[in-house]
Amino acid sequence: MSRPKRSLGQNFLHDTNIARKIVASMHLRNDDHVVEIGPGKGALTVPLLEELSHLTAIELDDELAARMRAAFGEKLTLIHGDVLDTDLHAVAKRAGGTVRVTGNIPYTITSPILFWIIDARESVRDCTLMMQREVAQRLTAKPRTKAYGILSVFAQYYAAPELLFSVPPKSFAPVPEVTSSVVHLDFQSPYHPAALSDRTFRAVVRGTFGKRRKTLRNGLRGLDIPQEALKNISLSLDRRPEELAVADFVLLADELTRHHVTISFPTAT
Ligand code: SAM
Repeated sequence: MSRPKRSLGQNFLHDTNIARKIVASMHLRNDDHVVEIGPGKGALTVPLLEELSHLTAIELDDELAARMRAAFGEKLTLIHGDVLDTDLHAVAKRAGGTVRVTGNIPYTITSPILFWIIDARESVRDCTLMMQREVAQRLTAKPRTKAYGILSVFAQYYAAPELLFSVPPKSFAPVPEVTSSVVHLDFQSPYHPAALSDRTFRAVVRGTFGKRRKTLRNGLRGLDIPQEALKNISLSLDRRPEELAVADFVLLADELTRHHVTISFPTAT
C-alpha cells in the first residue's frame, strides 16, 4: 500500500466509533440510494454497507479504487474518477431515485464539492459530510458574524444546514492540522419562496460578497447594473453584504429581476 497522498487529502478515519456515529446520524433505510465521496480504505463504507443493500462510491485514487472494488463486490458500484467530473443526476437516475450523499471529503475541494451537490440538488435528498470545522461553521453562520459569507447564504438558501458534531484530529491518520465537523444539509427544506431567477440570485450574492467590506451600492456597481435600476431597490444600498439575511438577498435579486435587469456575471454558476 503506497503512502497517503496529501494532494488527494488522504487523512483516513481510524476511529470506528466516529464512523458509526456518522452513519447512525443518517437514519438509513436499507433501500436508500447512498453515494459516498472518497471511500478511501472503507472507514465509512463498512458501516454504511451494514445498513444498506447497495452503495455507490466515487474514488479518484487508482490503488484505493481497485482495493474497494475487490473488497465489496456487487454491493458496491465503484466509480473510479474525480467526484467533480461525475454526473450526479445520471447516478441518481441509475439508482432509480434521489440520492443521499455522504463522505469524509478531501478538504481542499470542500467548496467545489458543495457546489457540485447544490447544482444537482433536484437529484439529492440530503448530504452528511465531514469537513474542516471552520468551513462547517460557515455553512450555518448567521449575518453579522465573521464566518458569514457566500457559503452560508448558499447553504441556507438551497438547503437546511445543521452542524452535528466535531471530530478531533487524532481520529485520523495521518493526523491533520485541523479539527473536523460533520454537517447535514437537507435539500428537501430549502429557503422558501425561491428567488425568481436562480442566476440573478447567485450573481447578486457572489458579486456583493466579492467586495465584502464594500456597500451593496459598490458591490452591485461591479455587476454592471444600470444606476437607474438601483433606484427601484427597497433595501438600503448603504448596507454591507454581511448584514443581509438570505431573505434580503432573495428580495434584492427579485427586485432586479422584476425590473428586467439581466446580470452578465462571469461566475454566476
Ligand atoms: N472515507 C475515507 C475515510 O474516512 O477514511 C477516506 C477519506 S480521505 C479524507 C478523502 C478520500 O477522497 C481519499 O480516499 C481520496 O483518495 C479521495 N479523493 C480525493 N480527491 C478526490 C476526488 N477529486 N474525487 C474522488 N475522490 C477523491
